[in-house]
This record gives sequence, C-alpha cells and structure tokens, in this order.
Amino acid sequence: MSKVLYPGTFDPVTNGHMDLIERGSRLFDRMVVGVAAAHHREKTTFSVEERVEMVREATRGNPAVEVLPFDGLLVAFARAVGARAVLRGLRAISDYEYETQMAFMNRRLDPGVEILFLPADEKYTYVNASLVKEIARLGGNVAAFVPPVVLSRMTARIRGEK
Ligand code: ADP
Repeated sequence: MSKVLYPGTFDPVTNGHMDLIERGSRLFDRMVVGVAAAHHREKTTFSVEERVEMVREATRGNPAVEVLPFDGLLVAFARAVGARAVLRGLRAISDYEYETQMAFMNRRLDPGVEILFLPADEKYTYVNASLVKEIARLGGNVAAFVPPVVLSRMTARIRGEK
C-alpha cells in the first residue's frame, strides 16, 4: 500500500491546502496529513488540537485521508507513519527556495523518504493562511479561500480577539 505524508502548519487549513490534499491523495492509496504542533517562525493562531480538528472536518468526505498531529523531525514522522514520500506544494519562487533547502536537508537526514512537489492550482497561488487571517481581521470576505468549517471558526476567533 502506498502512503504519502502531507505536512504543514495549517493555521488554518485553506482551499489551497485542500486542493493539494485532493490531488495528492489521488496519487497514493492513503495520505496522512501531518499537522505540525508549532510553526517554525511564529506563534500559531489556532492550537494544534483546533488545527487538527479543522482539517479532519474539512477532509471528512475523503476516506483515503488520515489527520495526525506531530512534532519533531519530519523524516522521523514520515517513517513512523509508514510514508514513502512527503508532499509539499509550490506556489511561487519564494516557496521553491525554502522548499528545496528543506528537501535537500531532509534527504540528507533520511535518503529513504522521497520529497515530492506539486504545483499549486493557479487559482490558489496567492492564497496563504497568514494573508487570509489578515483579510479576515480587516473585515474582508474570505469565504472563497477557506473551507466552511474554517470560516465559522475564524470569524469567532477574530471576534474574540477584539
Ligand atoms: P508550512 O508552515 O510548513 O509551510 P503550511 O501549512 O503553510 O506549512 O503549508 C503546507 C504546505 O502546503 C507547504 O508545502 C505549502 O507550500 C503548501 N501550500 C500552502 N498554501 C498553498 C496553496 N495555496 N496552494 C498549494 N500549496 C499550498
């Protein structure tokens, strides 16, 4: 059985992530969406439990997908769940630089885990979780960029911040 790991912070999961989950999960028998406990640069808006819950709800209709939290080394988590490959999305050149650096380092750490890049759908290339949160905070409509479960939670969270 072929299994792929799709890791990220998902703070919160966007329609860009959802597109990668749908397209990536069709290429393998199973997909584990790995929700990183902490972000590598900044404090997350949602707790890891909330982020896992939102991805679970958003992917409920896809039986090939399992959603799990993780911390520590990515390649160690990939091994632990039995994934042969790790999927990452590429939106722009800026993603490419960071993603290739990580891919080379991860290959060095464990050459047995292959890193795969899938180009983003054109209509989501400009969608990222931070920008979506910023627009929501400024009162903009983000319904086109996130799954419905995220929209209601994000609105509630932002109201609570004020
Ligand atoms: P991280 O903080 O580890 O980059 P993210 O949750 O922001 O985690 O992203 C996880 C993965 O999803 C990354 O490979 C990222 O490039 C990809 N991704 C994020 N947004 C999009 C999008 N709009 N379209 C395609 N891929 C995306």
